[in-house]
Amino acid sequence: AHPAADAPAPVATHCPYCALQCGMDLAPAAPGGPPGAVAADGREALPVTVAPRQFPTNGGGLCQKGWTSATVLRATDRLTTPLVRGADGRLAPTSWDAALDLVAGRLAALAAEHGPGAVAVFGGGGLTNEKAYTLGKFARTVLRTPNIDYNGRFCMSSAAAAGNRAFGLDRGLPFPVTDLGGADAILLLGSNVAETMPPFVQHLAGARAAGGLVVVDPRRSATARLADPSPGSGQGLGEGVHLQPVPGTDMVVLLALLHVLLAERLADREYLAERASGFDDVARSVAAWWPERAETVCGVPAEELRRVARLLAAASPSRGGRGAYVLTGRGVEQSAQGTATVTAAINLALALGLVGRVGSGYGCLTGQGNGQGGREHGQKCDQLPGYRRIDDPAARAHVAAVWGVDAGSLPGPGLPAVALLTSLGTPGGPRALLVHGSNVVVSAPNADRVRERLAALDLLVVCDVVPSETALLADVVLPTTQWAEEEGTMTNLEGRVLRRRRATAPPGAARSELWILAELARRLGSDVAFPTDPADVFDELARASAGGVADYSGLSHARLDAHEADGAGLYWPCPATPDSAAQESSEPPGVMARRRSDSSRGEHPGTPRVFLDRFATPDGRARMVVVDHAGPADDVRPDAPVHLVTGRVLQHYQSGAQTHRVPELERLVPEPYVELHPLLGLRVGVGDGALARLASARGVIEATARWTDAVRPDTVFMPFHWSGAGSVNRLTTDAVDPVSAMPEFKVCAVSVTPVVEP
Ligand code: SF4
Repeated sequence: AHPAADAPAPVATHCPYCALQCGMDLAPAAPGGPPGAVAADGREALPVTVAPRQFPTNGGGLCQKGWTSATVLRATDRLTTPLVRGADGRLAPTSWDAALDLVAGRLAALAAEHGPGAVAVFGGGGLTNEKAYTLGKFARTVLRTPNIDYNGRFCMSSAAAAGNRAFGLDRGLPFPVTDLGGADAILLLGSNVAETMPPFVQHLAGARAAGGLVVVDPRRSATARLADPSPGSGQGLGEGVHLQPVPGTDMVVLLALLHVLLAERLADREYLAERASGFDDVARSVAAWWPERAETVCGVPAEELRRVARLLAAASPSRGGRGAYVLTGRGVEQSAQGTATVTAAINLALALGLVGRVGSGYGCLTGQGNGQGGREHGQKCDQLPGYRRIDDPAARAHVAAVWGVDAGSLPGPGLPAVALLTSLGTPGGPRALLVHGSNVVVSAPNADRVRERLAALDLLVVCDVVPSETALLADVVLPTTQWAEEEGTMTNLEGRVLRRRRATAPPGAARSELWILAELARRLGSDVAFPTDPADVFDELARASAGGVADYSGLSHARLDAHEADGAGLYWPCPATPDSAAQESSEPPGVMARRRSDSSRGEHPGTPRVFLDRFATPDGRARMVVVDHAGPADDVRPDAPVHLVTGRVLQHYQSGAQTHRVPELERLVPEPYVELHPLLGLRVGVGDGALARLASARGVIEATARWTDAVRPDTVFMPFHWSGAGSVNRLTTDAVDPVSAMPEFKVCAVSVTPVVEP
């Protein structure tokens, strides 16, 4: 429906879900309509109507989640008032003053008794940049706790660690997503974009047309079918290759591809000599991974490995191709060897001479809406705003000056997500947890243990928009604004900083986390300023980021508005120009200044492509690092002989806290299921449509079986969007990658048996 002629103009914003951040217009409801109006089906009418908007990432498209995103604004159980658990064990409505007084009083008491580390904070990759920044500042300056981390640790932390190590800088895609369209070949490792971010598929068109889309996935996903729609037939659109390795052996595929490049003298030696270091050691390390040996471990035919290596080399600019990209997703990153596997992907891209060239490159497909910005502004346990290390004295001094505190008062590094959750309520561990925008009892690995640890806390406070499974366990639930109800910024998978705009008022007493944290800071006696206007917070964030690798100091809400109006947006790094930097340096530390005009921020055009001249390493060269295959932390064995892999479906997002509340989506995929190959079904006695029991070393769940030859006969697949009896993260292992602390969501060992009715 289109707004009436006298209706307010549509509000240009972006989708609330994934990191593609598709452009959309929100048309506020016509006068006399919502809020409060009731539609024909008895549900409260929606306050806005969603329409797709032309934007470079989505080209005017939206997926089903985006089209229906307004429904979450009026979820039937939307949180609209603070809730406090009473003596009867039930959550009951209360006032903001009562809830915040209670939280502040108990936080102060726990910190006084056990020390500041007794209070922990868990953030989210869906929070705006302003909220993520404020959360980190609140933890470090008010709570003075080192224990803050976020669910982005589960998302792409291994790719971030590998990118930082190789290039000195982590930006998911160091190039505009539209660059992909000109490539002859794209190697897509562990990413099912056709379901997770469907509009992204348009950017694969060039490679598909050239027969160069290579998808590596143990499952013939919707994306794998784009590369090979009719396995073995050689027919149809989208000629390419689907490699279907044994789960947990992606590393072997990558090592073998590099081996072939070197054995067949296809590497770009000139590029390597000029732009990378460490090549000789890496070359020696892959000598043992000739394709026939790799095939015995990963199960991919040796000739397929050779074919793909040659295809990538032919597409690379050094051999006259139009360009090639290597892209990684959660399938290879959510691994106990995630940093090493992404490093192997980077080594391959460097050997092909792709990185830092227009039209070629390596990138990580960040998943959560603000997965990129969420990791830049200080809610990671080891980082301060500007993507600065928290143990760097110069970084501490800079950020402390912006905050108006003594650098010595800032805590040091804390515990990363899994270790943080595991430590809750243990002797010496945190006694209270504040959760912002994360549903950890569904989305964290080994979820039953997480539930146990939350139960051991003295205080659990959850800020959210709906009563998620985690919120339902809380002592205090604080209702927050979301997406179309607030102003702010998000940074998408390309490092493009985007404006989120308010199109409607929040329901009831829901308030922004910016206000909630400021109120808590005041009640806790802090004299640190906590602005609540998102434009002011952004200005402060920009100052805190100045000089860091993720430099936003040349940005402001107004500047972003101006640049987004012409469809471009602005990419970081975007430093302030010398004139505006001089103005800022004359301001006293900790004093908030509003600078919203273009002129006060300067005219730096932003940086759509990084690494073109040099990498962000001390010598400007990319670092190649020797890595080797280690296998899954929880590998198959006689009592758990089947690989379990997990992933998403088109209709649901993450823990499903939002999308389960959208009837149109819920009807399409109403319950969890397990995909298994008919051969496995026959072997274990689980028929198509029957109830299967899956058991790992951590738990037992049940789900309806779906027979399909899209999975290997040694593997089952389950989506992870559900809680309860079909919650697959009750099975996944919380073994973590030693470099990034990324847990191994993507593979573990299970037994599969039929559920026999008593
Ligand atoms: Fe939203 Fe992602 Fe779907 Fe785009 S692809 S509409 S950003 S969920």
